[in-house]
Amino acid sequence: NPTIVLVGRPNVGKSTLFNRLTKTRDALVADQPGLTRDRHYGIGRVGERKYLVVDTAGFDPVAKDGILHEMARQAEQAIAEADVLLFLVDGRSGLTPHDEQIAARLRRAGRPVHLVVNKAEGMERALVAADFHALGLGDPLPVSAAHGDGVRQLVDIVLAPFAQDEEAEAEADAGPRVAIVGRPNVGKSTLVNALLGEERVIAFDMPGTTRDAIAIPFERGGRPYTLIDTAGLRRRGKVFEAIEKFSVIKTLQAIEQCNVVVLVLDAAQDVSEQDAHIAGFVLDSGRALVVAVNKWDDVDDYRRERIKVDIGRKLNFLGFARFHYVSALKTQGIGALMKSVDAAYAAAMANLSTPRLTRALQVMLAKQAPPRHGIFRPKLRYAHQGGSNPPVVVIHGTALEHVPASYVRFLEHGFIEAFKLQGTPLRIQFRTAH
Ligand code: GDP
Repeated sequence: NPTIVLVGRPNVGKSTLFNRLTKTRDALVADQPGLTRDRHYGIGRVGERKYLVVDTAGFDPVAKDGILHEMARQAEQAIAEADVLLFLVDGRSGLTPHDEQIAARLRRAGRPVHLVVNKAEGMERALVAADFHALGLGDPLPVSAAHGDGVRQLVDIVLAPFAQDEEAEAEADAGPRVAIVGRPNVGKSTLVNALLGEERVIAFDMPGTTRDAIAIPFERGGRPYTLIDTAGLRRRGKVFEAIEKFSVIKTLQAIEQCNVVVLVLDAAQDVSEQDAHIAGFVLDSGRALVVAVNKWDDVDDYRRERIKVDIGRKLNFLGFARFHYVSALKTQGIGALMKSVDAAYAAAMANLSTPRLTRALQVMLAKQAPPRHGIFRPKLRYAHQGGSNPPVVVIHGTALEHVPASYVRFLEHGFIEAFKLQGTPLRIQFRTAH
């Protein structure tokens, strides 16, 4: 999935465009209590094509210290990891010196840059072009982020060069694709080494320049897997080492490219905001999940109790996942962890037949009918499968727009139970017959 990074001075409409570019995705994910959402990273989708969007808030390339500097530093990291940059300017206010500074920075980025003129609704195309041509970034693409004009065309132009990559991605299919994610120092590389250690690494392609997460095929217990790297792992002698700092973009890329996420936590530390953030990304993605609470060898009974309570409180939205208490360093609990990975993969890919789904639906309806909403009484008639990883259950009926979120969750749990889907979330879609 290509990474599109939005750059521009404040108030040009970056967040509005960000929302436009990412809103197509899963309006179904109900708001989960306790989940903080990062508004600067999102996944967008056109048909089957997905892309990652990063909004660099208030990028100021000349800021030297303080919060502006920190924001600039994060923007620099995003620019370095971008596949394509969208430089947003404001058609209403015209070209400003700040725009020129940013343009100068972007010309040196070594990435394709598209100049996007926002707030261009009702403006003469030629006029827009004349003003911004001076930036030397090619023909400006006019859009109206607020109204949505030109956004679809923009996405098509931006994504056109990436079509081939995706075909290649879809081709490689060697068992579950597993991403090991977590904040720095929780033990990801150690876990990778525990997994790969004695096992044969079938082939290890290490393209030197790619900014994408790399894939490492390996075998374990006679089964093939592909590991999706997040940490910029590099082989050093017999072991892998993380050579790069934590990258949100790489983490999101890996989550999008995998079937099953292994989220690594550090038992010696309380669950941090960063842990919760990463967990939130996993939840949004709909990927299957197994949680590895690592360094279990290093903590006493008191600490073990405490971290369990802390996880229960802060990551309560990961209830569908199985938790394993492991030591990557001493390779304890790794076999059981991988069994759960297999189970989660099987659950995420399960075939759910229409008769069984419909029967499960009827059992749930008999137990508890959806509540009446004013004069509306939702009628749920039958269900069929609409997708995998996560499994999507499409329910047909009438007045389904009046089914409350709590009842949707009741249905999700019901289907998960009925099909014993351990380790994957499940999503419900409604099709109302009119
Ligand atoms: P990463 O940044 O998530 O890849 O973390 P590393 O794999 O580099 O591990 C960070 C540190 O934690 C290193 O010093 C490891 O030796 C240590 N570590 C990793 N796993 C374990 C474990 O299971 N037990 C203990 N005691 N230490 C661990």
